[in-house]
Amino acid sequence: MTKPLSWGQLLAILVATGENLPDHRTGKNSRYTISDAMLGAFGVFFTQTPSFLARQRDMQRRKGCNNAQSLFGVTHIPSDPQIRNLLDPIAPAYLRPPFWAVLQQLAAVGVLADYRSFNGGLLCSLDGTQYFSSTQVHCAQCTVIKKETGTRYAHTALIPALVRPGKAEVLVMEPEFIMPQDGAEKQDCERNAARRWVARNASQLAQQRVTILADDLHCHQPFCELLQAQHLSFILTCKPDSHPTLYEEVALLAKIEAVAQVSDRRWTGHGYEVWTYRYVNQVPLRAGPKALAVNWCELTIISEPTGAVLYHNAWATDQQLTADTIRPVVAAGRSRWKIENENNNVLKNQGYYLEHNYGHGKQYLAAIVVMLILLAFLFHTVLQLCDEKYRRLRTALGTRKTFFDDIRALTRYHYFHGWDQLLDFMLAELELTPG
Ligand SMILES: [Zn+2]
Repeated sequence: MTKPLSWGQLLAILVATGENLPDHRTGKNSRYTISDAMLGAFGVFFTQTPSFLARQRDMQRRKGCNNAQSLFGVTHIPSDPQIRNLLDPIAPAYLRPPFWAVLQQLAAVGVLADYRSFNGGLLCSLDGTQYFSSTQVHCAQCTVIKKETGTRYAHTALIPALVRPGKAEVLVMEPEFIMPQDGAEKQDCERNAARRWVARNASQLAQQRVTILADDLHCHQPFCELLQAQHLSFILTCKPDSHPTLYEEVALLAKIEAVAQVSDRRWTGHGYEVWTYRYVNQVPLRAGPKALAVNWCELTIISEPTGAVLYHNAWATDQQLTADTIRPVVAAGRSRWKIENENNNVLKNQGYYLEHNYGHGKQYLAAIVVMLILLAFLFHTVLQLCDEKYRRLRTALGTRKTFFDDIRALTRYHYFHGWDQLLDFMLAELELTPG
């Protein structure tokens, strides 16, 4: 039975994070704390209301109290330019702890157990998402892409998330930014970011028995060896173009009927599909005498009435493949597609206002904004999983837009002592209170 996890516990994590942010200012002119800037910006993203802080400053003037303070713990509300200046020098590493603290809380209330998969471990999907691109605006952390047509500046983050096949909610984890690294001569890339993220978090990941899911870009020997050395499992998309030796071996083994095959016939409600799994254990990931042996599998889904191929993908894994494990391993590998879309949605069109006027900054602002957006998304996910009132409201209000429109209007006109009072008010007015 899952115990509830309250907004108060989530907010306490955030407030503690704010207190640990470094203050780069030297003068005494510090009416606004770095913590206020962080909590205020978080409030903007959590309520999906770009004007949230301006409205709350208004309310403070009119009523002597405001929702930025009561809902998000902001003591004095800074303006947008002040937030920009205060947050720009903060390295994104300072915002990593709350992601882990939330996971700890989820483990404590029993929610993380629901994410355990076929082998009792957790599935962690890694996904690179470009969240900024411009030919003009740029900062010291931009990746510079030079082409004949001109120079483009971009920001990309590797966004890990815990997933479980068949579960709608993904638990986003602290990201790794693709940005210039101290002492590195070459430009940073997604492969390096994945290695850094795994190396940094290896002990916590191993403790949770994590299996890493990632796309073909990461399906190479050094990464697999890093994962094995850290006692982490993997299920990685494995394409023929980038793994010619492996596929030659599979073709040879197929000729002597050493590639196992199982098929399922599945009714979809409209017609039958045929799901054909092929798999083989211990094939070389690359050419050469020191090639790592991995296990390989593929799934092809064919429409029985038309013969059309509806889906095909293949993976390399360290999981032993048998008639019993092949289906859950493939289901785990496939669950990555979901997160790829989810992350893109969170950062691009789920209403979190990535292009909010905090802008790009000179140092880390763009990355800090992404971390706050991911935290806001994580908090909403946690409330969906752990808060009965929140869940009831979201279901009753239907679309995401309606929910956030209502939050926006209510927090503009009414003062609420806290998040619970806001939810209670909405439930009561909608006559959704039980009993
Ligand atoms: Zn930049």
